[in-house]
Amino acid sequence: MSDLLTVNQLSVHYGGIQAVRDVSFSVKEGEQTTLIGANGAGKSSTVRAITGLEPFSGEILFNGKPIRKRRAESLLREGLVMVPEGRGIFARMTVLENLIMAPMSLRGMARAEATHLAEELLAKVGLSDKRDAWPSSLSGGQQQRVAIARALAMKPSIMLFDEPTSALDPELVGDVLEVMKNLASEGMTMVIVTHEMGFAREVADRVIFIDQGVIQEEGKPGQIFSAPSNPRTAAFLSKVL
Ligand code: ATP
Repeated sequence: MSDLLTVNQLSVHYGGIQAVRDVSFSVKEGEQTTLIGANGAGKSSTVRAITGLEPFSGEILFNGKPIRKRRAESLLREGLVMVPEGRGIFARMTVLENLIMAPMSLRGMARAEATHLAEELLAKVGLSDKRDAWPSSLSGGQQQRVAIARALAMKPSIMLFDEPTSALDPELVGDVLEVMKNLASEGMTMVIVTHEMGFAREVADRVIFIDQGVIQEEGKPGQIFSAPSNPRTAAFLSKVL
């Protein structure tokens, strides 16, 4: 299958700091890739660059077309969505309104169709009963599942997740990961920054370990977690596993 996303020698700078250094990888349709590494390693900067949120050097191709200088909104329209760290849904809209806004404004979907789709997606993330709720009445985990449903409402061809469970209390993490596991089993193409090693091991086709802005090692989860070949990977895993 062809590459949906190609990242070629990506570098991201913040003033004098180089957060990402010559990172290259590609993602095929239906593949799940996880990015792991210590805090500050450059994982978020990598996915933020892919979603058009950070200036970068190098090349990023989505569906064969360069991402450079494209606005995040146009990427969204073309099927590349990011589910951000934290909750990120609009507090002044009900759950339903959060889900129908982008399909109506960016995709020109009629309200009735967008509402029908939203209801289907809320069922998928286990929140049918929260259709008319305000975000402030939901738990963090519920809000994160709304954020996933909202991203799905754009009928994405690839979803990027930036630490989707990092802001959650431990007891709420499982429900969100369950939704993501289901998406993976349905063949959704996903790039996931995560600190949840069990999840990375179970779900990913491929794990990429980033340290100091550089890909130190990548491979199948079985290999990375059981027999890392790079001592830095081994050192990182010995701290987090
Ligand atoms: P975490 O797991 O903590 O989110 P990360 O691997 O995602 O870490 P990044 O957030 O990409 O790492 O950060 C990489 C480096 O870039 C860090 O040194 C960080 O302090 C720096 N950095 C990130 N965002 C900015 C910014 N907006 N301005 C300046 N420096 C930044």
